[in-house]
Amino acid sequence: MSTRRKFLQSSIIGSAAVLTGEKLLAAKPLTVAAVLNNPIVISTWDFGKAANAGAWEILQKGGRALDAVEAGVRIPEADESNQSIGYGGLPDRDGKVTLDACIMDEFYNCGSVMALEHIMHPISVARMVMEKTPHIILAGDGALQFALANGFKKENLLTAKSEHDWKEWLKTAKYEPVKNIENQLYDKTKDPMPGGIKNHDTIGMLAMDAAGNFGGACTTSGMAYKIHGRVGDSPVIGAGLYVDNEVGGATATGVGEEVIRIVGAHLIVELMRQGLSPEAACKEGVERIIKRNPIKAKEVQVGFLAMNKKGEFGAYCLQKGFTYAVRSNQEEKIYTAPSIY
Ligand code: ASP
Repeated sequence: MSTRRKFLQSSIIGSAAVLTGEKLLAAKPLTVAAVLNNPIVISTWDFGKAANAGAWEILQKGGRALDAVEAGVRIPEADESNQSIGYGGLPDRDGKVTLDACIMDEFYNCGSVMALEHIMHPISVARMVMEKTPHIILAGDGALQFALANGFKKENLLTAKSEHDWKEWLKTAKYEPVKNIENQLYDKTKDPMPGGIKNHDTIGMLAMDAAGNFGGACTTSGMAYKIHGRVGDSPVIGAGLYVDNEVGGATATGVGEEVIRIVGAHLIVELMRQGLSPEAACKEGVERIIKRNPIKAKEVQVGFLAMNKKGEFGAYCLQKGFTYAVRSNQEEKIYTAPSIY
């Protein structure tokens, strides 16, 4: 865990949000202990570094955390070499690329899309669900219909590489997620599944802007070769992502079923509210997963990442190898999260 205490300036700013219909709109920041003029963005895995750079462009100009996280995660969404997010993501067992994403702002506004096909930037559709509809979640065909009606372009997201890997996978059709594919610990020469990289991993991003407000985003193509229609934790508010502007935020990566069972991100935010550091809260999260099923917990990867209102951040994971990227005025760095095993 790292701290940025020397730059902290605490203040109490009253809530002056405006209630319009059912959604809270920004008027004045709803902050309790604002960390002014010291923005920071953190995100999961090594690929978080490039995503953070996109978010940083907005944060360093004094932009809003929500805008920063959306812009940030759009980078891996459009990166065809990244086979676990957006365009180029590995398909389900039927060869369909189905994407999950959610976004949350500093006023508990949130939006989510589940099992969305053909749209390169599911995070931006999730934001539109949040801002332009009375709903929070749109799924499947309905989500696609909504996206197309709102100007998003229908595209083929299955790249030649991912199609090739899927066809190789079909030869054995063994559903066996591989841990830590997104970092150097993964040894591709010992790939237990034919056809190269096939796995999961998500970008979860949390930002605190210069006004001390939080935003979060999470986007993924989910578990490769999942059953068509399977939805993981990533677009589930409270599981894959949660932001509470009074406390901070948390996000998750790894086998989503394990995260949903313990409502991971919300759990971690509540533990921080009770006074735990981000790292200690993330550790408690992974320990809950172990408590439920210690045998299963040894076989899967789950990583949690969190940040509090002081700009302190931390992470914890089950298996060695979960990394996360940090960008602030003080540093641009990739950290390795401590692990249980
Ligand atoms: N959490 C994602 C899912 O279950 C995958 C991952 O982050 O590795 O869909």
